[in-house]
Amino acid sequence: MVSIGSNLQEVKRRMAVACSHVGRPANSVTLLAVSKTFGPEAVRAAQAAGQRAFGENYVQEGLAKIEALADLRAQLQWHLIGPLQSNKTRAVAEAFDWVHSVDRLKTAERLAAQRPPGLPPLQLCLQVNISGEASKSGVAPADVPALAAAVAALPRERVRLRGLMAIPEPAATLQAQRAPHAALHALLQALNAGGLALDTLSMGMSADLEAAVAEGATIVRVGSAIFGAR
Ligand SMILES: *Cc1c(COP(=O)(O)O)cnc(C)c1O
Repeated sequence: MVSIGSNLQEVKRRMAVACSHVGRPANSVTLLAVSKTFGPEAVRAAQAAGQRAFGENYVQEGLAKIEALADLRAQLQWHLIGPLQSNKTRAVAEAFDWVHSVDRLKTAERLAAQRPPGLPPLQLCLQVNISGEASKSGVAPADVPALAAAVAALPRERVRLRGLMAIPEPAATLQAQRAPHAALHALLQALNAGGLALDTLSMGMSADLEAAVAEGATIVRVGSAIFGAR
């Protein structure tokens, strides 16, 4: 039987061990529980076990879950981590707290224009195609500096650029997993050396969170290790 509470404890234990291996404080990494394909009851169970931040891949599914959990809205933080089409930006700007998957200026501009003024700024990450796979979404590393500068220049009361996100190609060994995460970290450092002040590296999933934490992840996005196989 799957127990979301004990799975959460185990993931947090893995994160703490990974932090201690590289001398990072355990509270320097935030756990984003990826609830895609699981129903509102699963989110409720995780929230009852102390989890606050949840990640959704599909806009419609995420919106439905946010609606179904409206009574818990103040206790939850909702992150969109999947592809975002232009015609869905308004609903996302109105309902989510974070978007990790910005890979075009047009998307960020629409989110800025559509973020309701009464809400805190929408927190944004740029998704980077760090492994260079043709099939994956995300901006090419060479194009990140220009996009980051343009997104950071959007009205800060509407959108706030926080950092970078990546979904590296799966790799079997810790060493091989670390390389793309290190590359994303280097890209963030280059942006900050160029004058930005970004604090977020969204990287690491169930299979590679140790490698991501070793290379500086500040948010790990974990689904199956918490909620079970999809
Ligand atoms: C599904 C998903 C995750 C979580 O993956 P698991 O392997 O289940 O931990 C993380 N990030 C993104 C973008 C995803 O789509």
